[in-house]
Amino acid sequence: MYRCTLLLCLSLGALVKCAAGSDWCYSGCEYSPTHWHEIPHSSCGGNRQSPIDIVTSHVKMDPHLDNFTFVNFSSQRVIKNIINTGHTVKCNLENDQVELSGGGLNGLYSTIQFHFHWGDTKHHPGSEHTVDGHRYSMEMHIVSLKTGLSVEEALNDPEGIAVLGFFINATEDGDMFGPWDSLTSYLVNLTDTDVTLHNISIDDLIGNVDRTRFYRYNGSLTTPNCSEAVVWTVFHEPINVNKKLIERFPVHMKVTNVYRPVQDLGTRHVFASPATPLPPGHSWCYDDHCEYSPSQWHLLPDSQCGGESQSPINIDTKHIVVDEHLDSLHLYKV
Ligand SMILES: [Zn+2]
Repeated sequence: MYRCTLLLCLSLGALVKCAAGSDWCYSGCEYSPTHWHEIPHSSCGGNRQSPIDIVTSHVKMDPHLDNFTFVNFSSQRVIKNIINTGHTVKCNLENDQVELSGGGLNGLYSTIQFHFHWGDTKHHPGSEHTVDGHRYSMEMHIVSLKTGLSVEEALNDPEGIAVLGFFINATEDGDMFGPWDSLTSYLVNLTDTDVTLHNISIDDLIGNVDRTRFYRYNGSLTTPNCSEAVVWTVFHEPINVNKKLIERFPVHMKVTNVYRPVQDLGTRHVFASPATPLPPGHSWCYDDHCEYSPSQWHLLPDSQCGGESQSPINIDTKHIVVDEHLDSLHLYKV
């Protein structure tokens, strides 16, 4: 029973059942986001909270953010069911079938579920993360637990949970009959009872998003109790979905604007994989009062500062070699 309750906690949507007597919401109740920190045992007032606004001019490239390895993301038999939690729509995955590693993550993670955040029927956007203040139409979160940890241990480990965030961009003329049509067709009259979902894979939903381009920072769950246990990956490229399919989320689920406002980054840093395009004009300087001091110049986009023939050097007169071709310089007036 205890484990079951904790699993409900991890569902990021059914937490109402965990915080007994402290029902939370996105608006219109006592515990709306600005009061989540008052919920008993809540971490929502902590200093590594999510989501955040990703300010691309402050993002640093990290060469350790290599490519991910995805196991069974392409399988059409691993999505166990789809459920209306009251706060979101969630797809649970078969146990121990779907895995995630690489991408700079520290070890192997077991993927357990994915769910969505959206705006309203008037096309007010509802992604949780924003990029340079821009909010996308929706955001999909794929949640994985570090293997070898119990759910409780994962929630108490600063790297216990890995969440992949994909932005969803509303298009005027996107595919109306693909996997997103299949998925959203389940939303009509969806209840908190499990509904079996077939013939869609996670890869089908992600489509051709370039998964080598992503941002990375340490944060939290974005619903109470906001455990600060999440290694966040937010992909640079959005998934494009026809706006008529996006409308189905607020229309059929009958809840709107299911996203938490952005939180302060504080002293944290956001990093980007080497393939992620970053804006030019990253500031460099000679002292350490800017983003890139000399010891970090090699991390600047397109930098050659880490090469083997760099300048300046110390000229050691004891080890110079005479070259007879180096005759006198002649200066001419032009
Ligand atoms: Zn989420």
